Amino acid sequence: MSDPADLLIVGGRVFVAYGPTALVPHGSNVGPPPVGTASAIAIRDGRIAWIGRDDEGLREWRNPTTDVVEAHGGLITAGFDDAHIHVREGADELDRVDLFRLESVETVQAAIAGQAAADPDAPWVLGKGWLYAAFPGGLPDSALLDAVVADRPAFMGCFDGHTGWANTAALRLAGIDRETRDPADGVIVRDAATGEATGVLKEGAQELVKRHIPPSTTAATLDAMRRTIADLDRAGITAIQEAWVEPERVALWRTLLDEGALTVRARLALPMQPGGATLDEYETLVGDLRGGEWLDAGILKAFADGVIEARTASMLDPYVDDTSTGWPEWDADTLDAFAAEADRRGWQMEIHAIGDAGVRMALDAYERAAAANPARDPDRRHRIEHIETIAGADIPRFARLGVVASMQPYHADPTPNQADVWAGNIGPERAGRAWSWGSIRRAGGMLAFGSDWPVVPFDPFIALNAAVNRQTIDGHPAGGWLPSERLSTSDALAAYGHGSAYAAFADGRRGTLRVGGDADLVVLDRDILAEGPSSIIGTSVALTVVGGQVVHRSEALS
Ligand SMILES: [Zn+2]
Repeated sequence: MSDPADLLIVGGRVFVAYGPTALVPHGSNVGPPPVGTASAIAIRDGRIAWIGRDDEGLREWRNPTTDVVEAHGGLITAGFDDAHIHVREGADELDRVDLFRLESVETVQAAIAGQAAADPDAPWVLGKGWLYAAFPGGLPDSALLDAVVADRPAFMGCFDGHTGWANTAALRLAGIDRETRDPADGVIVRDAATGEATGVLKEGAQELVKRHIPPSTTAATLDAMRRTIADLDRAGITAIQEAWVEPERVALWRTLLDEGALTVRARLALPMQPGGATLDEYETLVGDLRGGEWLDAGILKAFADGVIEARTASMLDPYVDDTSTGWPEWDADTLDAFAAEADRRGWQMEIHAIGDAGVRMALDAYERAAAANPARDPDRRHRIEHIETIAGADIPRFARLGVVASMQPYHADPTPNQADVWAGNIGPERAGRAWSWGSIRRAGGMLAFGSDWPVVPFDPFIALNAAVNRQTIDGHPAGGWLPSERLSTSDALAAYGHGSAYAAFADGRRGTLRVGGDADLVVLDRDILAEGPSSIIGTSVALTVVGGQVVHRSEALS
C-alpha cells in the first residue's frame, strides 16, 4: 500500500489536461488528452499523488485520517488561473456603490442616491462600474450627478477604468474650469457650445479629481484584499496575475505572503512606462520573488493604447464619423527600445492593446525584441492583453512569435446596449473581428483567460459562457455573436487553467491535473463537459483546493 492521501476525492470526472498537443506552441509540458474514465484523485503533501478510479483510490489511498470527498459526479479540473486581474484596486473599491449592469440614467442615479443616504457623513460619495450605454450619447455629465449628490464631492469610475464622472463639487475641489488645460495623458471633456467641463474625464485627466479622494489606509487595503482572496477561493480561482502593481504596493503582497493569507498563488506585473522605475530598481525590489511558489514577480506591464468605447484604442483606420485613429500611448521606437532591453534582461512583458493598431504595435515590439536579442533563451512568453480587435494578418503572428493572447472573455458580453457603443465606434466590418479567440487558437496561438476584475466580475463561469457560447448570461443572441469564434468547453477550460499557467511560466507545476503537480484544483457541482455548453451558467464551485489545502467547500459537500 502507498502512503495514505491527505485528501481523496472520489465520484467525480477528472479533466486531466489539454486537447491536441500539436496546437500547443513550444512543445510545452502537457499531459495526455482528456480522460473520461478517471473519477478519483489523491492528494498528499500539497501535490497530486495519484489519479484513477474510485474503487482503487478507496482501497489504496484511504486511511482513517484521510479527508474523503464525494464529488457527486462533478467535474474535477485544474483551478482557475485568472491571468489578468486587479485584486488591490478591486479590493480598495469593494465598498463603493456598484453601477455595473445598470442600463438607464434613472437606475444609476437611484443607486448613487442610496449610497449617499446610507453614509451622510462620508466626505465623498464614490462609485464604480458605470456603463457608457447607460447614458444617451454614451457619456454622463456633472448635472446628472449633481441631481443626486450636491452637498459634497462625488466621483464615479467607469467599468473599464478609462473614464471618470465627477459632480460639480468635485470639479470645483479639483480646480477644473473652462480655463483648465488638458493634461498630457488625458482629456477634460467639454461642452461643444460653452467650453465648460462636462464632468467627464478621460484617461489621465481622472487624476485631477482622484488625487483629492482620501486614500485608504494600508490596514484597510490589506483587510479588503483578504476579503477579496476569500471570495476568489469561493469562485474556484487558485492563481491570479495582478496586472498593475505600483512599486510601492509590492509590500502589500509581501505582507499577505508573510502572514500566510495568500490562498491564491499570485504573480505581479510591474509598470513599464517612460520615466518610471528602471529595471535595475525593479530587480532590487522583486528579485527575491522571481519564480516564487506563492508570490512571483516577473512581468512588466505597458499600455499600447486605451479603449474603443472612449475612442482611445489605437486603430489602423479612423473611428466612425471621425478623423481620429485613437491614442497610442507610445511611439513605436520608444516602445521597441524598452521592449528590447526588458527582453534582453529576461523579463516577461504584457502589453495592453485593444485596437487593431495597438495589437500590431505590441506584436511588432516583441518581434523586434526577439530579433535584437538572438542569443537569449527563446522561451519568452510575452503577452498581449485584451485584443478586442485584430487585423486578419496579425492573427497567425501569435503562434509564430510565441506571444500569448491574454483575453478576458466576459468583456465580449454581447448585451445590446454595450455592443452598440463598442461596435458603433468602429463600424460593422471591424466589429466582425471582435475578440477573435477562436481564430487565434485555430492558428496555433496560446490563449490565457482572465477577468480584468473589477472591470467585470471575476466569476469564471460568466467568462466561460462568453468564450464558449458568445452569448449573454441569459442566452442572447441565439447561436452566439460571431459564432465562428466560439471555443469548445474543454479549450476554454484549458485557456483558464493550462494557458494561464503557461503565461505565468508555471505550466510545469499546475494548470493541468497530473501526478506530481501542485494540487491546485476545483470540483464543480456538475460535469459541464458532459452536460454541454448550456450548463455553464448556473455552475458553481463545490470544492477549491490550493497547494493541497481545502480553501472552499460548499454546503453540499460537507
Ligand atoms: Zn486590466
